[in-house]
Amino acid sequence: MSANLVDAHFVMKKYFFTKKRIKSYLALGLALLMPSVAFSALPAMVRVSLFQAHAPVQELVVQGPFQLATSTPRTLGKGRYTLRMAQHQLLLCGPEPSRYCLRSQRFLLIPANGEKSVSLGLPNQPQRLYSGRLEFSMKSNHALRIINALPTRDYVALVVGSETPSGWPMEALKAQAVLTQTRLFRYQPGDALDDTTQQEVYLGERHRRPEVVQAVTSVWDEILTIQGHPVTPFYHASCAGHTSGAEIFGQHHRLPGMTGVPCAGCRLAPFGKPTLHRIPAKTYADVFPPGLPKVTQRDQAGRPLLVQFSNGSTQSGYAFWLAVGQRLGWDKAPGLYFSWRSTTDGQILFESRGAGHGVGLCQYGAAALARQHRSYQDILNTYFPGAKTAKINMP
Ligand SMILES: [Zn+2]
Repeated sequence: MSANLVDAHFVMKKYFFTKKRIKSYLALGLALLMPSVAFSALPAMVRVSLFQAHAPVQELVVQGPFQLATSTPRTLGKGRYTLRMAQHQLLLCGPEPSRYCLRSQRFLLIPANGEKSVSLGLPNQPQRLYSGRLEFSMKSNHALRIINALPTRDYVALVVGSETPSGWPMEALKAQAVLTQTRLFRYQPGDALDDTTQQEVYLGERHRRPEVVQAVTSVWDEILTIQGHPVTPFYHASCAGHTSGAEIFGQHHRLPGMTGVPCAGCRLAPFGKPTLHRIPAKTYADVFPPGLPKVTQRDQAGRPLLVQFSNGSTQSGYAFWLAVGQRLGWDKAPGLYFSWRSTTDGQILFESRGAGHGVGLCQYGAAALARQHRSYQDILNTYFPGAKTAKINMP
């Protein structure tokens, strides 16, 4: 996947946060109220759990050559290898015609001598390239655990490369890198990061681009802070004119520096205009309580804060938007800036603007500001009012 922001599929599934994720950000928000912490350093290495968007993963294809990192390292040559589970063990089977298999509870793979990465993929899907070390183990009897350990700096560059299309302006790339570094400030060694939009997309070495590496190099020792603490680095693809504060996630939650701001630059971007989708009323009724909910409260940007169902129950507009995306498909309302109504011909019409939840930095808006020669500090300060970059020690 090119991770191009104009790729509709990519944008539609982008930047939704599960309840678990919200809880972790709420926890982070509470942590921000704690006494100031000294800015120390990011870890030298991070661990990323791969193929989370495709979990549970039961089989992988590894293209040789690669090296098995055992007490006596062994290079396996060219060819198509498969990795799967069998009888409570992992089975790494070599190419035809010999088709020999190695059994183990755990495999460690690194690039072969002279190679920079290992080629890895799901069956019948494009292969991805990963540098660093790959650890394979069993998550359960039905799922593989795939962990990629790599230097933090490489990870930041590859995330920024995965999250932006080629041609993205330099100052916007720098702003994106600062946000990723800010997120990693809370990383605990040993944790496994997620490689999806739950956190940030990480698709491996194919997304290493020279301009991204240059951007990361120039802001490598910076994170974004407000009132002496790291910000919660939310961002989204396109806000369609106005971002929202963190209270959009419900529970009257507010975060410092996370207030809605006007954003002119994304109006001409994809999803700047309303997206209309109709579905049969029966399709809606099959997965939601009877009747369409009413919006009882909106934020200043126009996003629904609270909705009420005909049985009197209420939920946040954000929770309803997540449910629409998860049950009916993310194309129905790519942006949380959305509304819905019944039509005279027995359908439900969803109208949505922008893409994503609308909180924090607007990526298309940031790119537009960068093209107007605004600096990355300016861009970050636009979307996180009152925030400043701060230097930290880096590995
Ligand atoms: Zn915007």
